[in-house]
Amino acid sequence: MLRFDLRQLTKSGRVAAGQSYSWCWFRDEERIASISVRTIPDAFLLDYTWTPSGSRPQVIACRIELTQTPCALGGCRRWFVCPDCGRLCLVLFGISRRGNFACRACQRLAYASEAESPVDRCWRAQRKLEAKLTDDGKRPKGMRQRTFERIKDKWATIEERKDNLLWPSLLRLAGYLDRKSPV
Ligand SMILES: [Zn+2]
Repeated sequence: MLRFDLRQLTKSGRVAAGQSYSWCWFRDEERIASISVRTIPDAFLLDYTWTPSGSRPQVIACRIELTQTPCALGGCRRWFVCPDCGRLCLVLFGISRRGNFACRACQRLAYASEAESPVDRCWRAQRKLEAKLTDDGKRPKGMRQRTFERIKDKWATIEERKDNLLWPSLLRLAGYLDRKSPV
């Protein structure tokens, strides 16, 4: 993750409007990434090339708004406004699998939901339902019959959804849907 840190930018005098520069990230003295930055009143305009995995490079333009809040001891403090959720923060992180910079919470959310496929979500939902039953899938003592039936129905609905999700990829593997794919 690339940290775009407002305090660091302030320290290097890179916040005032009217500047144009490139901002770089290094690891072991080797440059690993760089972006073009333009500063205008109350915003940073970032330009960079981003290559999604397994795809062509894309040119991205990302606008990051700046805002100020008054300090208790006078003066004010500047903040980034997260382009995704609008939260005020001092550090933004890039580059997500969607190609943008955003606050820590947004990036974590994006990663968590992208890492989980729809089939994974089905499995997880089923495990959650099964946990309510006995080890061999029976009705636990004290659970009402109606509740038990509802859990079983839900489980079966998810099973169907999972089948629907899995079938196309199984057929494709077998070469039925896409004759060009290697079998
Ligand atoms: Zn955010």
